[in-house]
Amino acid sequence: MIKGTSASPGVVIGSALLINEEELVILKFISTFELEEARLGQAIASAKLELNVLRESTHKTLGEDKAQIFEAHIMILEDPELLKQTLTIIRRESVNAEFALNTVANQFIAVFETMDDEYLRERASDIRDVTSRLLYTLLKKKKVSLGNLNGPVILIAHDLTPSQTASMDRANVLGFLTDIGGKTSHTAIMARTLEIPAIVGLGNITQKIKDGDQIAFDGETGEVTINPTAEQIEFYNNRHNAFLEMKHELGRMIGLESKTLDGFHIELAANIGTPKDLDALHRNDAEAVGLYRTEFLFMDRTSMPTEEEQYQAYTEVVLGLKGKNCIIRTLDIGGDKKLSYLNIGEEANPFLGYRAIRICLKEPELFKTQLLALLRASVHGPLSIMFPMISSLEEILAVKKIWNELKKELDNKNVPYSHNIQLGIMIEIPSAAIISDILADHVDFFSIGTNDLTQYTCAVDRMNEKIEYLYNPYNPGLLRLIHMTIKNARAKNKMVGICGSMAHQKDLVPLFVGMGISELSMSAMHVLSTRKIIRGLKKSECEKLVEKFLKLGTADEVKALLN
Ligand code: PEP
Ligand code: MG
Repeated sequence: MIKGTSASPGVVIGSALLINEEELVILKFISTFELEEARLGQAIASAKLELNVLRESTHKTLGEDKAQIFEAHIMILEDPELLKQTLTIIRRESVNAEFALNTVANQFIAVFETMDDEYLRERASDIRDVTSRLLYTLLKKKKVSLGNLNGPVILIAHDLTPSQTASMDRANVLGFLTDIGGKTSHTAIMARTLEIPAIVGLGNITQKIKDGDQIAFDGETGEVTINPTAEQIEFYNNRHNAFLEMKHELGRMIGLESKTLDGFHIELAANIGTPKDLDALHRNDAEAVGLYRTEFLFMDRTSMPTEEEQYQAYTEVVLGLKGKNCIIRTLDIGGDKKLSYLNIGEEANPFLGYRAIRICLKEPELFKTQLLALLRASVHGPLSIMFPMISSLEEILAVKKIWNELKKELDNKNVPYSHNIQLGIMIEIPSAAIISDILADHVDFFSIGTNDLTQYTCAVDRMNEKIEYLYNPYNPGLLRLIHMTIKNARAKNKMVGICGSMAHQKDLVPLFVGMGISELSMSAMHVLSTRKIIRGLKKSECEKLVEKFLKLGTADEVKALLN
C-alpha cells in the first residue's frame, strides 16, 4: 500500500495505463535572430489558438470558473517578461528559440517552486504546462491525447497538466495517479470538478506500476494498492459502495430545506476565502455566505489592496451569490496571519496582541478603505458586515462612529449604497460573550467564532500541539458560554450563528439546535451532510439534550452524552 495526497474522492479498481510522455530533447544550435523570433511568434500564436479552443470547450462543459484556468494560461503565454527574456537569450547567444525558451521557463518554474505559499508554489505547474505546449509546437511533436481511450483505465503519470485533465475521455478514465502535485494544483481542482477520483504526490508511482497492473485506490484517504488480493478487492468494493451510497444520499439533500422535523429552519451557510469558493458553495447548495474571510485579499502581495480592488472583489462575490446573503468579515490580520507590508512588530503573544479590529481601529485609513469598498459594493446585492475579535462595547461604539461618518461622506458625494446593511460582531472573546445581553442591543447579529473562543476560554493556544488535548470542543465551560451567547441573542430577537469549525461537527449539531442557533456556517463540503442531520432532528428533543448537558462537569461526559 502506497500513500499520497488526496486530490479528488472516490474509490476505484481497474487496470493501469502508464502515460509515458516522450522526453523532449532540447538541442542548442546556432541560428539567426530573425528566424527564431518568427518561429517563436508562430508557436505563441498557435498555442494561443489551442488555448482559446480549450477555454471555449471548458466554458461549455465545466463552466466559467474552470475556463478561467486557461485564461490564466493565455496570460502566461503573453507574459512580457517571459518573451523579453527568451528573445534576449536568442539575440545574445544566437541560439534557437526552444533552447532559449526552455532556459527561461526553467528559471521561472524554479522561482515559483520555492515559494512559501502552497497556492503560488502550485502555479509552477501552470507555467510548465504553457511552456511545454510551446516547446511541443516548436519541435513539431504531439502531446499524448487522453481524449480517446480504448477502454476503462486508471491513468498513471509523472504529472498531468490542467489541459490534459480538462480534455480527458471521461467515460474511460476511472481515475488517475501522479508522482507529483498538490491538493491545490489546477489538476487536482479540475479532477474534483470532473468528479474523477485522483491521488497526487505519490513520489515514484510511475516506477512501481506497469501497464496492465490491477490497481485499487481510495481518492479520499490517498491509499493505493497495486495488484490487490481478493480480500483487498472486497475491501475496496465495500468502500466504493459506501461512497456511492453516501453521495447518493447527500445528493438527495440538494434543494431540500434545512428544517427540523418540528419545522425549525437553521440556515446552512458556507465559509469562503476567495470568490473562487462560490463554485463549491453553489454545488453544495449552501444558503448564504456566513463568513467571508477577507484577509486572503490582503495576503500574497506587497502592498495594501486599493479601495477599487476591494470593491471589485466584494462585488464579484455579491453578484456571484445571485441574491443569497453574504456576511463579509473585515480584516482579521495578526495572530498567525501576517502581512509583509504592515509592520505589526514582534510580539510575545501574537494571539493576545495586535490583531483584527484592534489594528483596524488604530489604522483608520486601512479600515475606512475597506468599509468604503463594502458600502459601494452593497448596491449589487445583499451584504452584511461583521467585525472580528470584539472584546468590549467600547470597540463596537468606535466602529459605529466611523461607520456613520463614512455613510455621511458618501451621502454628501451622492454615492449610492444600500441602507439595509446588517452589522454584526464575532463572539470569540469571553469578555464579549459574557456581556452579550448588552452587546445584542447594539448590533444586528452575532456569529460565534469557536476556533478563537475555544483558545481564549480554555487559555489554550490553537497552534500549540503540546496542549492540543485542552483544545476540546466538548469542554462544558466553553459550551455553556456558547449557550449563554445564543440565549442572549435570541432574547433580543437577534440572529446568532456559529462560523468556527465546531459548526459542522456532527455530534454537536443537535446541541446547537437545542440551544436555539439560527445559522451554522462551515466549509461548503459539509453543508449537505449537516442538512441531513438537521432534517432528522426534533428541536424539542434537542432542548431536552441541552437540559441534560447542563448537569455535566467533564468533557468526556459531554462527549458520551452526545454519542
Ligand atoms: C473563529 O475564530 O472561529 C473564526 C471563524 O475565525 P478564524 O478561524 O478566521 O480566526
Ligand atoms: Mg477567529
